[in-house]
Amino acid sequence: MWILVLNCGSSSVKFALLRPSSGEQALSGLAERLGSPGARLVLKRGDERSETPHPNASYADTFALLLSELDRLGLREQVTVVGHRVVHGGEKFSAPALIGSSVLASIRACIPLAPLHNPANLAGIEAAQLAFPHVPQVAVFDTAFHQSMPEVAYRYAVPEAWYVQHAVRRYGFHGTSHAYVAQEAARILGRPLTELNLVTAHLGNGCSVAAIAGGRSIDTSMGLTPLEGLVMGTRSGDVDPGLHEYLSRQAGLSLEEITGALNRESGLAGLSGLGGDMRELEQAATAGHAGARLAVSVFVYRLAKTIAAMSVALLTLDALVFTGGIGENSASMRAAVLERLGLLGFRLDHSANEAAVRGRPGNIGATGSLPALVVNTDEERMIAREAEALLNGVRANGVGA
Ligand code: ADP
Repeated sequence: MWILVLNCGSSSVKFALLRPSSGEQALSGLAERLGSPGARLVLKRGDERSETPHPNASYADTFALLLSELDRLGLREQVTVVGHRVVHGGEKFSAPALIGSSVLASIRACIPLAPLHNPANLAGIEAAQLAFPHVPQVAVFDTAFHQSMPEVAYRYAVPEAWYVQHAVRRYGFHGTSHAYVAQEAARILGRPLTELNLVTAHLGNGCSVAAIAGGRSIDTSMGLTPLEGLVMGTRSGDVDPGLHEYLSRQAGLSLEEITGALNRESGLAGLSGLGGDMRELEQAATAGHAGARLAVSVFVYRLAKTIAAMSVALLTLDALVFTGGIGENSASMRAAVLERLGLLGFRLDHSANEAAVRGRPGNIGATGSLPALVVNTDEERMIAREAEALLNGVRANGVGA
């Protein structure tokens, strides 16, 4: 079964045509800066890569280009289902959903919870429905995996009316990645996922940690929005809830200005003054840049503290998993985090840590240590797996797609 996976942002579309069983990709790519003069389409097929400018291209143009490419390769008829990444499913979705008018309405109803992401996801779904009118479409939600969190983990200690009337609670994000690496960890450890207690750390431009018991998320560091929790590339993570009032009084900043700065000018970028790219900051820190050193140290300190806090949600801990661009590639970050986590039973195998990079996952725990795994995430493959499983279930139950 070939599955087309789409991740539609406000000005970009990422796509991959793949088989979930093997992970084999027939075609993948990215259309970015849509609607601007710099819009371009990048296509990848095996080792071939092409990049074509398409000034001012829209979603519809992108899908037209994608269709003509699929036709050229004789792949259009092979698409059996389209899987869409959707950021926020609120409390409505704890699993993927076959897209029809009521699912679309529910995704629309979650717009207040994700005002930038859900409208872009919806626009992508609508464009894909026009482009593939006879192909079933499945929504896979970033928040769904964390819907298994118990109330003790998802409620904020705020007036109950805020929860009841305005859905103010913790939701968590990156669910597809946490779920995928948990499955991979079970495979690497050679144990059933249902018997494992894991802490997974997804560390990319956005960062979150999850506590996963028997394959179910029971806590995570992101909350109502993806701003809560860890220090990230340009996001602050946790700050004092009194910060907004203080800054508006002292600096005359508006709520929008403060929220914008917490999302786009904070985190590693805010602390270093150099930007939010971990690889560049590690190089600058090695060269002696004080801001870069501070940014990396705060990132590591807060991450280690959060991993320890997440392990409290589990009765026992069987393994820690690092993933995402930083988790998969930064040996120095992993070493610094494990050094702080000796208390939990972690000891680093230095050479295994240096050897573990993207494409070469492994256990970086020394003999006698709890396993600390480096696992390559693959959100596209997980979305494809979930879309395939849903479609097979729908067909087995005899419900027309
Ligand atoms: P996204 O969350 O946008 O998918 P990624 O998962 O690709 O992003 O992660 C991007 C982050 O990974 C950046 O901070 C980047 O600097 C970092 N990264 C990538 N390679 C390395 C490396 N070799 N060493 C340290 N950090 C790295």
